[in-house]
Amino acid sequence: MSGTITIIGLGPGSSGLCTPDATAALEAASDLIGYAPYLDRVPERPHQTRHPSDNRVELDRARHALHLTEAGHHVAVVSSGDAGVFAMASAIFEAIEHGPASWRSLDVTVIPGISAMFAAAARLGAPLGHDFCAISLSDNLKPWPLVRRRLHLAADAGFVIALYNTRSQARPHHLAEALTLLAETLPPDTPVVFATAISRPDEQIEITTLAESRAESADMRTLVLIGTAQTRLIDRPGQAPWLYTPRSVPA
Ligand code: SAH
Repeated sequence: MSGTITIIGLGPGSSGLCTPDATAALEAASDLIGYAPYLDRVPERPHQTRHPSDNRVELDRARHALHLTEAGHHVAVVSSGDAGVFAMASAIFEAIEHGPASWRSLDVTVIPGISAMFAAAARLGAPLGHDFCAISLSDNLKPWPLVRRRLHLAADAGFVIALYNTRSQARPHHLAEALTLLAETLPPDTPVVFATAISRPDEQIEITTLAESRAESADMRTLVLIGTAQTRLIDRPGQAPWLYTPRSVPA
């Protein structure tokens, strides 16, 4: 008798931003699978087995989860934010598509989570209020020239852009290159936000402009939001400004 597999987004960090459905699914699991720092965010429970892994082995992790499910375990696969945004849900479905036919009959549930871009946007006001897109700057899973092309087209099309995987030790220069490329299309006063470790104790938010932005403000916990020509700042005395993108674009 095969078990169940639940793919869970834990939210951006704080327990309040992990949904009740996600919490219930974590409690019901016999086995937890995920990148070790994400598993550390899940409270320990007796009779639950943890399978922490490195961040780079997503497909191996997915196959491991599916083998355990087929063997009758109740598996929870965890990602940060939403599991479908640059995270494990796609890896699971890729493994199912290319795996044994029996995996297509497994009991799979995906539980949505609050992605970093939504948590960051809520802190700032409403920067994602009109059309937007999300782009990962990691070139582990796609060629860098494609990232450059997408950045250029997104800026040209007037999307607010949420940049994920902005900076890591393995890729220290991508963000600087991305900001330079965006500056070829967008005006220098375009609002740029570095939102780091949102909803965690070390949360930091820097609101700046494209001309003033420095890639050094980001690390691997940072989401960078790039506004559009419509994105507005509302200044407030003694407090950070609100940032919003209006619901309408002039004709
Ligand atoms: N599935 C996740 C994204 C995983 S990719 C989601 O939906 O949020 C990892 C990247 O997400 C990080 O490099 C960073 O760019 C962003 N990120 C994750 N948690 C974050 C947080 N609390 N604050 C800011 N950015 C975060």
